[in-house]
Amino acid sequence: MSQDSGCAAPSSSPASLTVDAARRLIFDRLTPVGGYERIALRAALGRILAEPVIAPCNVPAHDNSAMDGYAIRADDLPESGEASFQVVGTAYAGRGFSGIVGAGQAVRIMTGAVVPMGADTIVVQEIVQTDGDRVVVPPGQRRGQNLRRAGEDLALGAIALPAGKRLGPAELGLVASLGIAEVSVTRRLRVAFFSTGDELASIGRPLAPGEVYDSNRYTLFGALTRLGCDLLDMGVIRDEPESMETAFREAARHADVIITTGGVSVGEADFIRDLMARLGEVSFWKLEIKPGRPMAFGRLGSAWMFGLPGNPVAVMVTFYQFVQDALLHLGGLTPLPERPLVPAECADAIRKQPGRREFLRGRLSREDGIWKVRLSGAQGSGILRSMSEANCFIVLEETRGNVAPGDAVSVQLFDGLI
Ligand code: AMP
Ligand code: MG
Repeated sequence: MSQDSGCAAPSSSPASLTVDAARRLIFDRLTPVGGYERIALRAALGRILAEPVIAPCNVPAHDNSAMDGYAIRADDLPESGEASFQVVGTAYAGRGFSGIVGAGQAVRIMTGAVVPMGADTIVVQEIVQTDGDRVVVPPGQRRGQNLRRAGEDLALGAIALPAGKRLGPAELGLVASLGIAEVSVTRRLRVAFFSTGDELASIGRPLAPGEVYDSNRYTLFGALTRLGCDLLDMGVIRDEPESMETAFREAARHADVIITTGGVSVGEADFIRDLMARLGEVSFWKLEIKPGRPMAFGRLGSAWMFGLPGNPVAVMVTFYQFVQDALLHLGGLTPLPERPLVPAECADAIRKQPGRREFLRGRLSREDGIWKVRLSGAQGSGILRSMSEANCFIVLEETRGNVAPGDAVSVQLFDGLI
């Protein structure tokens, strides 16, 4: 690539870069795209908050009972021994007791019912003895017990959810608990993507000799749809610089992010990185990663470009190790999710040379009370079957050599990642 590409520093295109260094360089450059819209709460599932949600009321709105029982005044409890109360009414959830609880009186109360005026303590029904319209309360009660206080979950004016938070089921419920029907979310990212390769055939028709079906666009469709992006699927582009240039220019006009697969190696027909460098700014990296060694990252106009490798598993590895978090960051998510590495015992032998970080497809399961991981099948970088049968990546760090059965390894679970 050219030295004057202007992407980050010259050090952004060293001969070879670690996964961590590449991630740092990407996140140093990207800033959220901005823009927001107000939408109905249900439509906001999976979207990212553009503004904090401020509690417009206390949650719960009133002091209420945490148990079925009797509401009393703690002042009526003797220092020791039991106490007898006259039951003067009932408070239901949604239909309270309108009177005042006086000295020596109790109100039967259901879970969630507003605590009647005068009362400050709930005695659970299981421990009282009833006798006509009286209840006898045993010793050992605490003032204020079994109450949920107004504002205990959220006080009026508190930040219920910060900007940058992605809305999942808990967040939808929380916003609903505040009575809020609409939220401000960041706008959807527009992502254009295309596959490159003369050998690629579209699905739904027979293969000609030498062709392979284009699977990468379907993998990316799935991954990007899950992230809530607006997609511009540009199909398969032939290995011709002119067609690719047209595609890049078209994509840059419409998209925040352009993702390509294939054509980033050093083969005769691998035009992507040169083209990206000529049209925009590019950092091309030989990453210390397997699979997925070559990857290009850069900018064309106002669009960010990710030139991923062609092999289907390498596409997935580079997408999930670099592109997904980049898209979340561009979309305004903060903080970025932790991607925990979990220890497991490796049940298989794995050959590895120190140098690169390897992502193998693994199946984590509990055997004899221990979390063990095995390879989920053949590990060629084109083999999606073992990807589909995996539930985690086995992550072998750069310095690591061969793994023997019984060795400890780290795994990255697909749940929450893929
Ligand atoms: P490339 O990086 O273009 O040299 O491609 C590497 C390998 O991945 C080749 O075997 C390609 O046929 C294969 N490949 C590239 N793009 C796709 C695609 N969209 N779907 C399936 N396989 C692909
Ligand atoms: Mg190719």
